[in-house]
Amino acid sequence: MATPLTKRYGESVTTYFSASPLNRVSFLRENYTFLSAALTHPTTRFILLDKFNPALTTGTNELFTVAYTDVADAIGNPFSKSEEETVAEWDSSKTVPVLVFLGIDESADGVSFNGYSGRAYFSLDVTPADINPSASVTALAEKVTTAGAYFHTIYHNYVLSFAEAAVYAMARSYTDWNRRNPFCAGCGSKTMSVNGGAKRVCPPTDGGVEKPGSCPSRGVVTNISFPRSDPTIIVAVVNSTGDKLLLGRNKRFPPQFYSCLAGFCEPAESIEEAVRREVWEESGVKLGKVAIYASQPWPFPASLMIGAIAEALPEGEKIHLEHDPELGDAQWFEFDVIRKALDIAELNSAVLDLTDKPTEAQIKLPPSKAIAHNLIRAVVYDNAHLPKI
Ligand SMILES: [Zn+2]
Repeated sequence: MATPLTKRYGESVTTYFSASPLNRVSFLRENYTFLSAALTHPTTRFILLDKFNPALTTGTNELFTVAYTDVADAIGNPFSKSEEETVAEWDSSKTVPVLVFLGIDESADGVSFNGYSGRAYFSLDVTPADINPSASVTALAEKVTTAGAYFHTIYHNYVLSFAEAAVYAMARSYTDWNRRNPFCAGCGSKTMSVNGGAKRVCPPTDGGVEKPGSCPSRGVVTNISFPRSDPTIIVAVVNSTGDKLLLGRNKRFPPQFYSCLAGFCEPAESIEEAVRREVWEESGVKLGKVAIYASQPWPFPASLMIGAIAEALPEGEKIHLEHDPELGDAQWFEFDVIRKALDIAELNSAVLDLTDKPTEAQIKLPPSKAIAHNLIRAVVYDNAHLPKI
């Protein structure tokens, strides 16, 4: 049903990697009594990652999960004492795999704590011995194949449902961030994962011995390295008469593959400014109005794609590729051509294979689970609507 907001700004847009069924209950991450209860509850499920690839069930391509009894040997219970006590007893020589609390599914039975209840989900990094030198973790990774599952390389292959893709995205981003920050940015000594994997601290002691020197993280700011999202813009540009769409082809794309222009936001730059700058640098086109349409987490490792629709200025539509050599081509396409190409992209939506070489004289567009597809569709149809899920 239309509401005052949807009448004015259109329906909500759900993008791939964003439709999580989990309540993150982020305010409970410091409460180790809760985390311990969630960890050890018999209904709790653990997602396994090997080099950030998720374990999936062969055939159905759903997330393969295990119970606490399956992982207990590998991780013990890191939440059996309070967070304060755990930090005080920390010993960096005891290597532990990255464990992340992802949230609770309130629609399923599970842990119950202070009025919050649901099935808890964690992710566990079981990357083999070169990264986690723990025999029990390696054995756990090997069990996956025995159980009829496999570790899936997901980057260009959207096999997961929207809900599971969002859970995986959170697991991947947090695990990657923990792995990238083993040392303190303030003093260079080793850091420790706390808050169920959502924060890293630089404890004052390591193995009972006081660390030499001082660290700024032990003052007012208690952690220096926060889990991050890197804002990235992606934009569908319409010409000033509203009947053509600007698309570009990155030099690494196959010849007929075109997409929206995109790039990272720079520090001290608004999203609208980043859109105008990137489009001008890559295509020479100058923009007027920029409207934010929808966003999409992109967990490789931590981008947040901010999807915009923008209008070119009447005097700024000339394409010029010589500022920034990133694009091999950019063109204005009639909406009719785009609608036909969208149908083909929809059919091919299961796989975005950048090595594919189309044989027809037809442009290829991103598949329906990419935000670029949503943006293009919103522009070339009168009423922006979601791709089929
Ligand atoms: Zn430090």
